[in-house]
Amino acid sequence: MTVGELKREIDGAAEMFAAWKDEGISVVPSIHFTGGEPFLFRDLWEGIAHARQRGFDAALMSNGILITDEDAGKTRAWDVFDVQISLEGPAPVHDRIRGPGSFRGALRGAKRLIAAGTRVSANVTLSRVNIRNVKETIGIAKDTGFNSIGFSRIVPCGRGRELLDFLLAPEEVRDAYEQAFGLSDAGFSVVSGDPLAGVVRGVRPPADCRLTLSGCSAGFSGVTITSDGTVMACRRIGLKAGNLRKKSLREIWATSPLLWKLRRRESYRGKCGTCDLWPTCRGCRAVSYAFSSARGKADLFADDPQCWLHGRGQDGPSGRHPGKHSNPP
Ligand code: SF4
Repeated sequence: MTVGELKREIDGAAEMFAAWKDEGISVVPSIHFTGGEPFLFRDLWEGIAHARQRGFDAALMSNGILITDEDAGKTRAWDVFDVQISLEGPAPVHDRIRGPGSFRGALRGAKRLIAAGTRVSANVTLSRVNIRNVKETIGIAKDTGFNSIGFSRIVPCGRGRELLDFLLAPEEVRDAYEQAFGLSDAGFSVVSGDPLAGVVRGVRPPADCRLTLSGCSAGFSGVTITSDGTVMACRRIGLKAGNLRKKSLREIWATSPLLWKLRRRESYRGKCGTCDLWPTCRGCRAVSYAFSSARGKADLFADDPQCWLHGRGQDGPSGRHPGKHSNPP
């Protein structure tokens, strides 16, 4: 999309939320500018300025490498509420995953933002490569001056089969979240948007609830819009709900069969379909879809293969180690 199209869609979303308000539905809308790498988009600041002027909170998700002092100043000037920078572990681990020199670039960008007074959070994608570095990575983030650190799971999409070996076994995911949350303190929070992290934290729905309350955001509390206007339930699922060049966001949100399927309990199979925690969890649909696809039987509503509750569902990751010299693609 051109920046003109981007601004038009921001206006359309603002009108949608205003119309919802007339129906008594009030939301605090936010736009998270991500990529790829958002700092490669020439008109990024024009888009962010427009979003802020139309009443959206704005956040950025970046690898940190391209952030200049001028960008850092603009994050402050436009009151960007959070800049998330990927931090996969100590330098050798981070660079193994993201490329030589990327650790130094990430911390340089983070320090520029911190100096400008912007809130900065680190994000770790948990996999077999960095599972042993949870405590050390939290220490690096604290020492650098990050405000918080978030954890998510690797999604074996794209060259899925190659990533399968890097997936953690269910109990490893649980233990990693327990360890990470135990290192949270008053001045530095450890967070996660992963539905399974909510399970670790004891998030539970009221009895007999059939509504989506929290958990996986796909179809429920957010969409991804890609650079060509495609609307997806989640950037890691990749299935299309529509395109903004053909339909408005409001129409796609209200009528997409894909989004409605994600909102309905009867779509879900296996453990997730019958689980009491469905309203507040539903597993990570991206992991379920990517894992089942890589196994040759794509199913968006399959079990989350990394959930440790109710026994093994779809034949999940075993915790075996990939070859010593394997690198994540
Ligand atoms: S079975 Fe599914 S809904 Fe229940 S806790 Fe596990 S991932 Fe969440």
